[in-house]
Amino acid sequence: MPDASYTPEPRYPRIPATRGRPHVAIVGSGFGGLFAAKALAAADVDVTLIARTTHHLFQPLLYQVATGILSQGEVAPTTREVLSRQANATVLLGEVTAIDLDARAVTSVLRGVTTVTEYDYVVVAAGAGQSYFGNDRFATFAPGMKSIDDALELRGRIFGAFEMAEVVTDPAERERQLTFVVVGAGPTGVEMAGQIAELSRRTLRKDFRRVNSRDARVVLVDAADRVLPSFGHSLSGVAREQLEAMGVEVLVSKKVVEVDEHGVEVEAANGDRRRIACACKIWAAGVAGNPLGGTLAQQSGAELDRAGRVLVEPDLTLPGHPEVFVVGDMMALNNLPGVAQVAIQGGRYAARQIVDDMHSPNGVESAQRPPFVYHDKGSMATISRFSAVASRGRLRLSGFPAWVAWLVVHLFYIIGFKRQITTLVRWNVSFLGRGRAERTITRQQIAGRLALEELGGDFPPPPAAPWPDETPEEPGT
Ligand SMILES: Cc1cc2nc3c(=O)[nH]c(=O)nc-3n(C[C@H](O)[C@H](O)[C@H](O)COP(=O)(O)OP(=O)(O)OC[C@H]3O[C@@H](n4cnc5c(N)ncnc54)[C@H](O)[C@@H]3O)c2cc1C
Repeated sequence: MPDASYTPEPRYPRIPATRGRPHVAIVGSGFGGLFAAKALAAADVDVTLIARTTHHLFQPLLYQVATGILSQGEVAPTTREVLSRQANATVLLGEVTAIDLDARAVTSVLRGVTTVTEYDYVVVAAGAGQSYFGNDRFATFAPGMKSIDDALELRGRIFGAFEMAEVVTDPAERERQLTFVVVGAGPTGVEMAGQIAELSRRTLRKDFRRVNSRDARVVLVDAADRVLPSFGHSLSGVAREQLEAMGVEVLVSKKVVEVDEHGVEVEAANGDRRRIACACKIWAAGVAGNPLGGTLAQQSGAELDRAGRVLVEPDLTLPGHPEVFVVGDMMALNNLPGVAQVAIQGGRYAARQIVDDMHSPNGVESAQRPPFVYHDKGSMATISRFSAVASRGRLRLSGFPAWVAWLVVHLFYIIGFKRQITTLVRWNVSFLGRGRAERTITRQQIAGRLALEELGGDFPPPPAAPWPDETPEEPGT
């Protein structure tokens, strides 16, 4: 049942819904949001896409930003640029703080400026966050990998650990600096572990004088009993063999129960605990639903699953709200996985239903919608250069053929021809040669997140702050 205690936001200046044709608000510029917006390009609607980041993030390649293969620009084109030629689309930067289902309005805030966007339809595609399974304190020492900020912080921590190892004199501390622990052996964890191993064995091997980068220890830990469990037993076994051949230590059936500045503690199924001293920890396990899901559930009576995702109707809408679609990582339906294709197909499906409603006699009220049907295009994960695993239906591929398939698919989905070319060049540099074009690290990358957390999430912007592109006047001019 809807929760009567929900209080709508106070009134702010509004972007009205009715401008002569239906207004579709879209929350999020990820796969779900962007593909919904693009699918409405030819529709007789106005689209307003609101997101808290200026870019569309290609999350599957984030690990390559973290390990210096790609720049952030290659995996995160600006949404405004992507939609610049779509005349019916407006892009608004802002954190969505409320979606009022009764008033049909989305409230977003950008540096203290509140905007309320009224809608006839809303597609909510705000994705998911990182879950530390109730141990949020781990985040201080083991960043997750969900955003460009995360990837750059990890890049700083990974390359920074090698730098530290070069200057410390205590052998135990040097060993700690050269130990990398990746928590979570799903695709992201496997890809990260493989890339760090490759960095230490190939890329950095001639760059240090006091340490041998090949001494680096890369440990991949998971509570499940195998790596890449969703790929099935045979590919899972292949992936483990390939990781171990590269020198990655695979610890399965082990839970990470403590994380602090100096290391992690892992617990076996029989309760035995063991400490691994390490400077760099990477959290690639666990997904938490976006908090906006909670507010939608509260107002509509929809349920949330254990991960906090909204249980939607077969047409991806909220119960009693055929005008509210929830797509991608935010929604739960028929155990669909949290992958890009579910979000892309969900976004396109929502757009199609909106267009179809416009052709039915009483619009959204009378629409008879077909249920959302997901077409599984398979899964893939890279392990190192020239080596990957891929599965589609009954087809199983591993090694070089899987890697080529991975390369073609990922290149295809990178947005923009120029970006595809530069990515291909970078991949040549890294995979055919041993270089990494993006090894620059800064103090801000490593310390920025924690410094902001210390300031508190709601710290006010400085008055008349120069942003985004204003240059401050020199004093006295
Ligand atoms: C590291 C990593 C690797 C992955 N690898 C693969 C892979 O190889 N293959 C695969 O298929 N899938 C992969 N995935 C999963 C895939 O990326 C997601 O399933 C997909 O991105 C989900 O799309 P989405 O649109 O639901 O959410 P996202 O793509 O996460 O987009 C969410 C959007 O909502 C915005 N947003 C969130 N909250 C707010 C708010 N309050 N206000 C305004 N805007 C908000 C965000 O800024 C973002 O634009 C990976 C995910 C990660 C994190």
